[in-house]
Amino acid sequence: MHTGFTGVVQHDWPRPRGWAPPHRLDRLDVATLPGVGPSLARRLRGFGIVTVRDLLFHAPRRYESAVDRVAIAKLGQADGEVAIEGRIVSARARPLRGRRSLVSALVRDESGGQVSASFFNQPWLAEKLQPGTEVRLRGKLGRYGFDVKSYDIGEARRTADFAPVYPAAEQIPSARLRELVRAALVLHAGDVHDPLPAELELPLRRDALAAIHFPVDPRQADVARRRLALDELVALQLVVQRLRDTDAVALALPAPGELIARYRGVLPFTLTEHQEHAIAEIDADLRRTEPMQRLLQGDVGSGKTVVALYALLRAVEDGRQGALMAPTETLAEQHFLTLEPLCAQLGVRCVLLTGSGGGKRIREEIANGVAQIAVGTHALIQRDVEFVDLAVAVVDEQHRFGVEQRKALAEGRSPHVLHMTATPIPRTLALTIYGDLAVSEIAKPPANRRPVITSRVGAERSNAAYERLRVHLDAGRQAYVVCPLIELSETRLARAAEEEAERLRRAELKNYRVGLLHGRLKPAERREVMRQFKEHELDVLVATTVIEVGVDVPNATIMIVQEADRFGLAQLHQLRGRVGRGADQSYCLLISRPVDELSETADRRLQALVDTTDGFELAQVDLDLRREGQLLGTRQSGWSDLQFTKLRSDHELIERARALSIELRDEDGPWQDEADRLDADPSP
Ligand code: ADP
Ligand code: MG
Repeated sequence: MHTGFTGVVQHDWPRPRGWAPPHRLDRLDVATLPGVGPSLARRLRGFGIVTVRDLLFHAPRRYESAVDRVAIAKLGQADGEVAIEGRIVSARARPLRGRRSLVSALVRDESGGQVSASFFNQPWLAEKLQPGTEVRLRGKLGRYGFDVKSYDIGEARRTADFAPVYPAAEQIPSARLRELVRAALVLHAGDVHDPLPAELELPLRRDALAAIHFPVDPRQADVARRRLALDELVALQLVVQRLRDTDAVALALPAPGELIARYRGVLPFTLTEHQEHAIAEIDADLRRTEPMQRLLQGDVGSGKTVVALYALLRAVEDGRQGALMAPTETLAEQHFLTLEPLCAQLGVRCVLLTGSGGGKRIREEIANGVAQIAVGTHALIQRDVEFVDLAVAVVDEQHRFGVEQRKALAEGRSPHVLHMTATPIPRTLALTIYGDLAVSEIAKPPANRRPVITSRVGAERSNAAYERLRVHLDAGRQAYVVCPLIELSETRLARAAEEEAERLRRAELKNYRVGLLHGRLKPAERREVMRQFKEHELDVLVATTVIEVGVDVPNATIMIVQEADRFGLAQLHQLRGRVGRGADQSYCLLISRPVDELSETADRRLQALVDTTDGFELAQVDLDLRREGQLLGTRQSGWSDLQFTKLRSDHELIERARALSIELRDEDGPWQDEADRLDADPSP
């Protein structure tokens, strides 16, 4: 297969120093690199860069475009960024205040001009800048000479021209990051081991790593990117393959009967054509002894939960159990609040088990079969929880369902599993992530829905936004106010939300009943607030993103998101899905800083939300913007682990990775380590 891997030059970073223990770079703290003090280490950690490996795999967002080369004699302060080329005349290093340092080097070129070039915080350069050494420097003439942004020393290659710009550059200057990456390559490129078999004649991983950070031209950067993409795709595929257990046997369920008929009767609406279609596909799976592995995808508010309960009730009807597993406690509680009343009407016992809710009595009910449906978090599959007869499991919004968990669920017989997600993904990608998962899609929401009207409001006009909100409240509707997403601990975030709710109660929302929901409430308190809002004992719910998924109050018709530019696109889309759940027109007001103060990606994100409510379209925009900019501070799982792959254009690579992973899956060795790294549980 042609993958266009020719063209990565051999780099001249240090060669391997013989055997290096695997994972060495994984264990090596970035703080071991020259010039990294505690404060910088902390900022790097904020970007998920903890080890030297994390740094080396921190892919540039883009590269600087080439700049003009200027003769030193003609260099002027008005030139902006330029490149100069010449030889070192002399160099010296000196310490500056704090832990900073400066290397100044006198550079002379053929034009006869000379200039003093400044390299900040790279003391080790002094030794390399021997008189006579050739250099190519990119930078800018300032008051104190030529301030070097990127450089090549003693080499003919011109990597300084396409200097990388990193996502983390939003917080840490690019030049600083470049120094760090360069130092990491110089010191450790030799320890980057290559897990792909040499017969494949692919570029070496360490060459690709060097080239992705310091390419000689954009084409080389892309070849390097694809080499690294292949690695990560193979690792992801191996994880997916591990999840496939072809010998697993499930219990075939009989055709739907009386309980299901009653369920359809208690629903206050008829199911849509799309819901019926998904249900028919699920029924077909449940008839078989091969465990169902189906992905139910449908936009926020499209009606997946009803379908999920259907699947669970199919188990109950046959005298067995169903379980619904959600990624967070809040989400589990919200699902419970939706499912439990319906179950009660049907005489079905539904229980909640989370880390902090449930306890011994619930575990007993699960073990002796009194509990017919259990809703919960990972607590559901911990060792001390034993289902007497679990036949159907629904897994919500978990882009990866780790092998340990699946094993735990499947002790003995395997349940039928339905995965739910509101993040639509392209089909090739679904296959990559979930292996041979079948996909059902609820492509359209129930017909009585009107798309939410979204508008942007500059912070200076936030009064007008609250004015509109009050109009809805006065008409008997309810509303959400979403607090800013601050990068704080959960506890401080909760306190900020409390303060904001207090402020609103005194100011904009005086005379209204304002409730507060955040991640630090005790489960019982949280349930109580949710109940009050559901039963309209509260007019407004002020909340952190804990309402992101699952809150279901059709009478809520307006939402204000404060400082909306801080949120990710997918997150805003999920948040917005909390309104527009009834037949009435709903609104979402995104408050943000004025346009000219927004970053370009934030501006595009907000505008995309105004322009469309289509989740699939937004997912595409999100993938594009994500790669360019929006950096996920927190580690996510599954497909969002992919750093180098371009989902829309790398189909051939994805295919090739699939094939390779099948060859490699039974081999012990480095690939299993790579897969382990991905398969490690995401911290919830
Ligand atoms: P999702 O889980 O996909 O985000 P939900 O299942 O929570 O969506 O459904 C969103 C809202 O639509 C809920 O209030 C639900 O009761 C309602 N709903 C679901 N199916 C239908 C239907 N067929 N007709 C009318 N309303 C429906
Ligand atoms: Mg839902």
